[in-house]
Amino acid sequence: MNDETSKWVHCPVCRSKTRIKVYEDSVLLNFPLFCPKCKQEHNVSIIQMKMVINDEPETLPRPRFQYKYP
Ligand SMILES: [Zn+2]
Repeated sequence: MNDETSKWVHCPVCRSKTRIKVYEDSVLLNFPLFCPKCKQEHNVSIIQMKMVINDEPETLPRPRFQYKYP
């Protein structure tokens, strides 16, 4: 395993590092990316290090996140 060619996947929401790594030529389709910080799975696709978030408004009730800091 050559670690230099793989990179950590970052959470699309909070940008923190997840425990998933990908290679430059990795293809993840409809992948439940678990974020240890959000403690949630984000449904993403990653193709050649480019991440696309898969919204599923029909199957998942979209939670309302409120980022309010006093
Ligand atoms: Zn996150």
